[in-house]
This record gives sequence, C-alpha cells and structure tokens, in this order.
Amino acid sequence: MTTKTINPVKFSNWEEAMNILVILAHPDDPEFFMGGTIAMWTKMGHKVSYLLLTKGERGVSEQFPDGEILKNVRKIEQRDAADVLGVGEVSFLDHPDGFLESNLENRRQLVAEIRKRQPDIVISSDPQTFFHTHYINHPDHRTAGLLTIDAVFPAAGNLGFFPEQIEQGLKPTQIRELWMSLTVDPNLTLDVSDYWQIRLEALKKHVSQIGDPDLFEQKWNQHRQEATESDNLYYEHFRRVILRV
Ligand SMILES: [Zn+2]
Repeated sequence: MTTKTINPVKFSNWEEAMNILVILAHPDDPEFFMGGTIAMWTKMGHKVSYLLLTKGERGVSEQFPDGEILKNVRKIEQRDAADVLGVGEVSFLDHPDGFLESNLENRRQLVAEIRKRQPDIVISSDPQTFFHTHYINHPDHRTAGLLTIDAVFPAAGNLGFFPEQIEQGLKPTQIRELWMSLTVDPNLTLDVSDYWQIRLEALKKHVSQIGDPDLFEQKWNQHRQEATESDNLYYEHFRRVILRV
C-alpha cells in the first residue's frame, strides 16, 4: 500500500479553482466521511456541491419516529452542515433509504446529473464491504460508490452512453479525478487537523442522528485523543484516481 501524506497545500495540478461534486448516499455522509477535506477545499477557493442519493428516512429514532417527517428534518440539517463547511448547492434524489440499487436506470440518472453539473472532480465512497474486523459498510454506501464509479467511467464522457441526454442538450463531461472516501485501500492521506473543529461543528448540525451535540463533541474529542495519543493529528484517507491531467 502506497500512502502519501499531504499537508493542506495546493495539489500540484489544481492550479485553478475546481468544481468538486460530492456524491454520497445519505445526509451526514459528507461530514462523517470527509468533512475536514471539504472544509479545506472551500477555504482554498474550490467550489464544492453535494448530490445525495437518498434523504435518509430510515435514520429514525425515538425522537424522530416518522420517516417522512425525518426526510425534511434531515434536508435542513444537511443544508446547515453544508453551510458550516462553505458548500454551495446541496441536492437530493430521494431514492429509498436502505434500498438504493445499482441498476441501469439509476446509472442513467446519475450520468445526467453529472453532465448537468460538469464537475472537474467527483468524490464518493469506496464500495468495499468490510472494514477491519468489526464493521460492515452500509449497502447504500457501497451502492452509491459503485453507481458513481460506473457513471464517471466510461459513461459521463462518452457520447455513446445515453445519447438521448446529448440530444436533449446535455454535454459529455470528462472528469479529471475520481476520489473515494471511506476506503481501507488509500493512496492519499490528507492531514486535515486544522479542520477538525469545523468538521465537528458541521456534524453537530445532524441532531436527528447524533443526539445531544455537546455530548457528541465531548465523545469525539475524547475518542480522537485516545486514538492519536502523541501527535493528536487528524487524517482523512482517500483512493484518488487521476483520469485526466
Ligand atoms: Zn450513510
């Protein structure tokens, strides 16, 4: 495994501001998976937007037992969290939470969404199944990753894929880089320690999922201290695929 740690400096081939599209399954995934990196990017002047494939209605709890009501709560929480990180557009596709499918229709839809937005960089999550010895990756996270990979390559940039979209005025788009968060096979590790606190502030907006924000902050700060011991640094890990220089 080759891992390269980069401090929050310019990426060598990112001379101008990038249009970065985050495609993930649920509200709160962007902040949990890569909130530090998103905050770093917007501070560097890159334009970040979110496309979330569900509204997270199965994140129900005693306090939020109704999935339909929860959808709206989570939309607002996600918008608030995105504002903390400096993110622009936040959109939702409203696929059923927990039952997201990697099928042709969903791929077609995602290709259209990508062609509409013409991003330079697309970022999702690695469709792997297991982490270490104690964690199964949620099926929606896996499916969002798979759908995104298949939409980016070879479909979004190729006129032969979904030509009806081209006839309707959408343009093919050549993605420069595809990034996968939540990976156990990273080739890039970013030191985003400076963005730990702003990520926490964004996560604290997801009250329906985390409960009491102050307790959450306490717990996460304690966990960070225990996990890092001496250096107290906070890293986010990615598989970065450079498709076009
Ligand atoms: Zn999730």
